[in-house]
Amino acid sequence: MNDSVPEGTFWTITVVKPILVHEPDPTAAAVNDAVMEDSTIPVSSYAPVRRAEPLRCPQCGADRDWMAFGAWMDPVRLVCPAGHSWTPWEDDPARGRSLMQELILASGIEESRG
Ligand SMILES: [Zn+2]
Repeated sequence: MNDSVPEGTFWTITVVKPILVHEPDPTAAAVNDAVMEDSTIPVSSYAPVRRAEPLRCPQCGADRDWMAFGAWMDPVRLVCPAGHSWTPWEDDPARGRSLMQELILASGIEESRG
């Protein structure tokens, strides 16, 4: 384990930039099926199956200037600039936890400890 990341620390991290996450593109499968079935469409028309999307506040659509809260083993909790608080992927805590850990590591550990 990494001794510089104490699991008991509670982090408050400012995330100015959009948080890009890779989501399966629900339209890509349909596009690719159509390309596959129609021999007149060039193969280069295949769509990428995954796309990077910024996380957006479900209430106001904000995609940056987040405050992120949580401990190393917590799913991340985000607060948008308008003060809406939400937990992305509430049905998938492992994903929220992994984003929390990414943000902690990206933030520069010493300056964010509080
Ligand atoms: Zn909001």
